[in-house]
Amino acid sequence: MPVSLFNTASRTAEPFLPLDPAGRLVKMYTCGPTVYNYAHIGNFRAYIFEDLLQRHLEARGFQVERVMNLTDVDDKTIAGCRKAGVPLAEFTARFKAAFFEDLAALRIKPADHYPAATAPEHIARMIAMIQALQAQDIAYQAEDGSVYFRIARFPKYGCLAHLNLEELRPSGRIQNDEYEKEAIGDFALWKSWQEGDGEVFWESPWGRGRPGWHIECSAMATALLGPQLDIHCGGVDNIFPHHEAEIAQSECVTGLQFARYWLHCAHLMVDGQKMSKSAGNFYTLRDLLERGYSGREIRYALLSVHYRLPLNFTLPGLDAARAALSRLDAWVERLATHSAGASPAATDPSVPTPAEDFLCALDDDLNISGALGRLFDWLRDSNRGMDSGELSPAGAARALADFERLNTILALAPEQAAVPTEVLALVEERQAVRAAKDWGRSDQLRDAIAALGWTVKDTKQGPQLTRH
Ligand code: AMP
Ligand code: ZN
Repeated sequence: MPVSLFNTASRTAEPFLPLDPAGRLVKMYTCGPTVYNYAHIGNFRAYIFEDLLQRHLEARGFQVERVMNLTDVDDKTIAGCRKAGVPLAEFTARFKAAFFEDLAALRIKPADHYPAATAPEHIARMIAMIQALQAQDIAYQAEDGSVYFRIARFPKYGCLAHLNLEELRPSGRIQNDEYEKEAIGDFALWKSWQEGDGEVFWESPWGRGRPGWHIECSAMATALLGPQLDIHCGGVDNIFPHHEAEIAQSECVTGLQFARYWLHCAHLMVDGQKMSKSAGNFYTLRDLLERGYSGREIRYALLSVHYRLPLNFTLPGLDAARAALSRLDAWVERLATHSAGASPAATDPSVPTPAEDFLCALDDDLNISGALGRLFDWLRDSNRGMDSGELSPAGAARALADFERLNTILALAPEQAAVPTEVLALVEERQAVRAAKDWGRSDQLRDAIAALGWTVKDTKQGPQLTRH
């Protein structure tokens, strides 16, 4: 069964086929954070959904090249740096660093490129794209010096959000103090310098100013991935106007379809409201780590609900994630003991394995709840098999190997804790006294190892250590 993905553009699930004639390379663009503060876990819901998508495509043999941009200039970053009294780059640098730390804590696979909007080559490309739009009379400079995109010149405008262009052209006079644009739906490509922008500006053919948010993504996506993308992702709030504007700008410049598949995740909610900075109802990852939850537990909670369903965030939800992960950990540990170093049993190709069922569930528009349901059924059945002795050591080794494959997608296996040298020394000594059949001393050493927080089990392959 091919991977099928729900495309916001068509509002249907479509079989996924990349543009690459070999059917292997996937070009994927994901809208990244605005680095004026710590990202909240609502933002991370979007990034974890994109991570699941990338990892599943890779498990199915695709090679994904992914870009995630960093929006490091906009109203909020400018306001933030002025308030802090530091240059923009210095202000955003600390939040970029924090963002990368958070990605690692959540085990999100790094993108191939993290372009920053303020990089000189990207600003130059934004300016070049706006010039190309102006040459076609699609962009115009208004009296306030800012440059706008004339949406009346792009009949497809509204196709992604399924909006009627006419609705964006209200009749009668528009009261609009902020902009001098021709039509209310026209959006800014270049914003002319205002006093509040302070030192933040670039020279351009339209005078000093800065790029609009939408053109940043069009420029960085096409610079790094070429004129056509396979997949473009974000949260549902990005659909309009941001992604609609990206389509308009990019397609008017390149003449080609910008992105084939548009995927959007539903919001992380708190008490029926979108989690957002402006509503003040947010948790950062750091808030939750301070409360004693691990990155892995938070990853599980954000990952375990289908990306197109709203997910209500609660602390008991994190406790449930913790409980699910301890079941998983206990199972993996039990399989390791039960397998006793046996080689994985061969599988019968005519019978789908639980791991294959898991992958098939994800093929269906990343049906993670179905996939996890299968994983936990498998866990229950194989625990029963170990209870009754029906599951052989080779069967347990097979299950472990299959779980490792699934874990390249889930990234939920426990950390392999580094064993302290003090413990290793005791284990070595214990091996020596066991060789000398000094069982009394061996037991004493086992207790000494336990007192340091480690359990030692004797297997055919030698001693196995786990933290308790
Ligand atoms: P922003 O920094 O606001 O541009 O958002 C970065 C990414 O997070 C975008 O893809 C947003 O759509 C997404 N996002 C923002 N808030 C939420 C939320 N509460 N739930 C899910 N995704 C969100
Ligand atoms: Zn974007």
